[in-house]
Amino acid sequence: MTGDETDWRRHAEAARGFMPPDEGLALHEAAREAVGSHPGPLLEVGSYCGKSAIYLGAAAREAGRLVFAVDHHRGSEENQAGWEFHEPDLVDPEVGALDTLPTFRRTIHGAGLEGTVVAVVGDSPRIAAVWTTPLALVFIDGGHGREPAHRDYEGWAPRVGDGGLLVIHDVFPDPADGGRPPYEIYRRALDSGAFVETGAVGSLRVLRRVAPGW
Ligand code: SAH
Ligand code: MG
Repeated sequence: MTGDETDWRRHAEAARGFMPPDEGLALHEAAREAVGSHPGPLLEVGSYCGKSAIYLGAAAREAGRLVFAVDHHRGSEENQAGWEFHEPDLVDPEVGALDTLPTFRRTIHGAGLEGTVVAVVGDSPRIAAVWTTPLALVFIDGGHGREPAHRDYEGWAPRVGDGGLLVIHDVFPDPADGGRPPYEIYRRALDSGAFVETGAVGSLRVLRRVAPGW
């Protein structure tokens, strides 16, 4: 293992967030595969404090590609006060709302990925609506409610280029393990016939575009 390689792994594992190391490494492997099969940039929906962006960014950097990291940085429903995944120290006291952007920037800076990971700060569906560049990989890990998850799927699945990858996080086939919307959009992708599954680690699912549509 090269020094560089150890370094990004260390940064990724130390970063704040909810992605276990085995799933992060699977995401990294998917990104490496994606840059080999499509010439476009990579994009993630839902960056939070930048943990998953390191796994993607390390692979993109090797290939000289960019990762667009889309997040409004105000948190999903489950990150708000009173919910399961609320972290009070991430609230901007002046605004009285969550702000994960400063932590995200420190994470990306620390991992040496400022030249690779480009923050796109705003509402995912509104950005998807004007996005035209075909993507080598789309990673969906934004809002996990029914409406946000389906809107992300409808906005971003069409942007996955030919042979590119669609990766979805927090897919729980058994409702006892977690919320359903990420599983629902995973099913939508497979049922569309446009994507086939090429890998699964934990709740991470890797799909490849094999036909047009979504
Ligand atoms: N991928 C991250 C975790 C993402 S948590 C990791 O593994 O480290 C989900 C993120 O989605 C939150 O940061 C939240 O702000 C963002 N999000 C939720 N709805 C969004 C929307 N409509 N537009 C942009 N970002 C959104
Ligand atoms: Mg997740």
